[in-house]
Amino acid sequence: MMAVNLHCVILGPPGAGKGTQAERLAVQWSVPKISTGDILRLAVADGFYSDWSVASKLNTGKLVSDEIVIEIIRKRFEDEDTQTGFVLDGFPRTIVQAEALDKLMAGLDSLKVVNLVVPHDELLRRLSYRRICGVCGALRGWEKEEIEKDSCLRCGGDLIRRKDDLQPVIIERLKVYEKRTQPLVDYYSGRTGFCEISGHQGADEVAEALEAALSPSSEVSTTAEVSEEDYSR
Ligand code: ADP
Ligand code: ZN
Repeated sequence: MMAVNLHCVILGPPGAGKGTQAERLAVQWSVPKISTGDILRLAVADGFYSDWSVASKLNTGKLVSDEIVIEIIRKRFEDEDTQTGFVLDGFPRTIVQAEALDKLMAGLDSLKVVNLVVPHDELLRRLSYRRICGVCGALRGWEKEEIEKDSCLRCGGDLIRRKDDLQPVIIERLKVYEKRTQPLVDYYSGRTGFCEISGHQGADEVAEALEAALSPSSEVSTTAEVSEEDYSR
């Protein structure tokens, strides 16, 4: 039997597969997936932010201000559907955001934090041929059969490249990740709800490892799944 609640953070660099796994977990546990990247992209497309600073940060791979994303999460946590839990994808991304999440979480079930580990070369490879659906925003997977498709498996829409999936921006995003987000691994690693999983395997294998790590009977805090090679860069 699965526990009713899941409050989970998926950590990891761009291209690690956070979005894909967060989506699966959300369905499995019947909790919403909250992706700050998706929320920001939609808000910009809707013209919600009147000045250009948010759009330009998204397009150049810089982080949007802590204030803005913390406010997005704070508001989202007031929605009814988040009361039984959530899977966070792309938040927190800085220590300040992690501290804000701890405050928002006070009194809730303990937080599960999963760090997806993938070697640098593999991240570059994945991000440079990532495509998303221009209509519904769905991600095309990295598996061979999906790579060969040129339309969305979900709605048939045309696949496009995300504006920030261009080589110089990819490099910038990986740098920003190392400087601002990687320190979160240390921030969380001493906690009971923390675990690391190799993201350098098929999406199904990652999902299986995640399920095992998050199952209520598991003692979690396993790093055995990650090999030396996954950390290499
Ligand atoms: P990825 O993880 O592949 O880089 P995301 O969709 O998570 O993609 O994020 C895209 C962009 O949205 C980031 O490069 C950043 O500009 C902005 N963003 C998303 N989440 C945050 C956050 N928590 N804090 C600051 N900026 C964010
Ligand atoms: Zn689609």
